[in-house]
Amino acid sequence: MIPGLIGRGTGKRFPLTLIALIVLSLLNSCSQNNNTQTTTPPQSPKAIEAVSSPQKQKIKVVATFLPMYWFTKAVTGDTAQVEVLIPPGMEVHDYQATPETVKAIATANVLVKNGMGMEEFLNDTVKNAENTKLIKINASKGIKPLEKISPVVRAGKSDDHNHDHHEGNPHVWIDPVLAKQQVTNIRDGLIAADPTNKATYEANAGNYIKQLESLHKEYQQTLQKYPNCTFVTFHDAYPYLAQRYNLKQEAVVEIPEDQLSPTDVQNAVNAAKKYNVKALFGEPGIDNKLLTSLSQDLKLTLRPLDPLETGQPDPQHYFTAMRANLQNLEAACN
Ligand SMILES: [Zn+2]
Repeated sequence: MIPGLIGRGTGKRFPLTLIALIVLSLLNSCSQNNNTQTTTPPQSPKAIEAVSSPQKQKIKVVATFLPMYWFTKAVTGDTAQVEVLIPPGMEVHDYQATPETVKAIATANVLVKNGMGMEEFLNDTVKNAENTKLIKINASKGIKPLEKISPVVRAGKSDDHNHDHHEGNPHVWIDPVLAKQQVTNIRDGLIAADPTNKATYEANAGNYIKQLESLHKEYQQTLQKYPNCTFVTFHDAYPYLAQRYNLKQEAVVEIPEDQLSPTDVQNAVNAAKKYNVKALFGEPGIDNKLLTSLSQDLKLTLRPLDPLETGQPDPQHYFTAMRANLQNLEAACN
């Protein structure tokens, strides 16, 4: 695997420098500690990094928000140092960058973003970070965006939030098939940025993709029993998931808000009646009294549906949350 790597990228471009650096690095490491290094076969691109960064050779990757962090961390394992820019628990859609955000980007080798207008803070923040060597990975590369706002919202309220997703609806990670494409994009971007660890990135991505595939199968098998099942949400986060599994999402508002307007409430009532829905969906962990009383008035169960914009840092949390979503969707469609 190592000779293959040398033949591909860095080796072609800097063969002499490379050899010089290997020699330097080996001499260096031998003189500093000769217990572990001498038994390890020389790995050339690592040697380059050893010269340029005195600590470990790990690259530093910053991922914008939690799903991007999960997917990146799933691909890197412990091979890279991965940080999340938006602390889990913060509202992602209206996130304002802090000096720490700028600093994190300024000191990173790689930035992973969802794109599609999700990270509105990002362009200015990257500019402020002035990191000319930053490698950017757009996880949604090649994914065809769905329209910005689903029908109920468009008919309903004026966009007083002024929250403009120029590039379509950004919530692609909630569809396991598109999540697979995002993991693949991240894998390829990391390999390009850090070819030394290509084999690790491929193996890890392969594992995670396998899990995404079996999750997709579970979704298919469960939801094919309820074609065109319509569900009402208060966050326009599920159009990709709905399209994938032949469901219909009626989003009353585009992004979760503290207060629903009377028009929002009326839209929710209309949608619930029109589509004869069996449940309303709120967000997990949020006690929305208005939604609770609305669901009581409509004699509907208020269930949680997780947009996966916050949660546990473990990449496996994606599957936990997605399986909980599947249970709640089935309960609502049944
Ligand atoms: Zn969202």
